[in-house]
Amino acid sequence: MKSELAAYACNPDRTRGRRYPVSPDPTRSDYQRDRDRIVHSSAFRRLEYKTQVFVNHEGDLFRTRLTHSLEVAQLGRSIARSLGLSEDLVEAICLAHDLGHTPFGHAGQEALNDCMREWGGFEHNLQSLRMVDVLEHRYPAHDGLNLTFETREGILKHCSRRNAEWLEAREPGGVGARFLLGRQPSLEAQLCNLVDAIAYSAHDVDDGVRSGLIRLEQLEDVALVRRHISRVKSDYPMLATEHESRRLLYETIRRMLSEQVYDVVDTTRAAIGRARPEDVDAVRGLPPLVCFSVGMQADTTQLQQFLLHDLYRHPRVARTMDAAQRVVRELFAIYGADHGQLPGSRAARVRAAGSLAQRMRAIADFIAGMTDRFALHEHERLTGQRLLAR
Ligand code: MG
Repeated sequence: MKSELAAYACNPDRTRGRRYPVSPDPTRSDYQRDRDRIVHSSAFRRLEYKTQVFVNHEGDLFRTRLTHSLEVAQLGRSIARSLGLSEDLVEAICLAHDLGHTPFGHAGQEALNDCMREWGGFEHNLQSLRMVDVLEHRYPAHDGLNLTFETREGILKHCSRRNAEWLEAREPGGVGARFLLGRQPSLEAQLCNLVDAIAYSAHDVDDGVRSGLIRLEQLEDVALVRRHISRVKSDYPMLATEHESRRLLYETIRRMLSEQVYDVVDTTRAAIGRARPEDVDAVRGLPPLVCFSVGMQADTTQLQQFLLHDLYRHPRVARTMDAAQRVVRELFAIYGADHGQLPGSRAARVRAAGSLAQRMRAIADFIAGMTDRFALHEHERLTGQRLLAR
């Protein structure tokens, strides 16, 4: 099936372009090029060793930031195609959306944000943008990956007012402007935001059960899961045994995902039909159009609340994350007090940064870029303590 771009989609032939102009590619569109640049980046490879919920060493089968990003991209592309949106742009944004995540997931980000409070804080969406704009050093003539405006717009999915003003001062009318003007991003960007949530709630159910931290019976308190478990059991009575519980879970998750995907497609198609945006600029001036139906939004929120209370705040996860936060805080304190403790060329790069705030930002960039195991290794090298197995 050839994908047809709708009028309201982002069209690579009408991109707002790149900061540093490039000559056209003979075979690829601008959004395909963005995706390729992201896949070849060092930050993308490091996603393999960064925590989603479970620290990498806890098991080989749990999601990492890399497999999470691939699942987000898969869901995003499939919905993009049925809505006539740019699949290539959706794929690029989805693959890049978590590039700015610290080691140890949200716990690492909270710790680093705390450490950086006096120097502008730390926010992973802005860091993902910083990663593709500044921190990748792969091109002779400029820093960053030099991505198109539309990919960068999608990567910056949230932004505080203060950070938006900071961005606007450096790039007037750029990716920070919409947060100051109360405008929306493209439908492709809106879609990536929604499929991120669909992907993690589904795979965290899977990983949560696999880890033994949540039980299938507990999930029957969640309406979205309950209705599919009971339908699967009635379609396949032989799956209702302990031995077959994994197949029961997989089939339940598969159906849950399908129901959410069809709901987004139908609800969004209807919203687009009512608003009739004639192009992507019209989309930016409208309320969000990519969304769940009211009922599915409630079901999804209930599932997310369940995961928050029963998985993300599970005492075993919390213990690991307390240790992880200590690793981040202590690394920041050690590097901050003595830049000579930074490995090799990093020390020179931090010393070369002008102000104290810039030096602290360079240290935060270094820590944010670490994989879980590199952070643990550095922490052990500097303190002699092994807080988590690696
Ligand atoms: Mg994500």
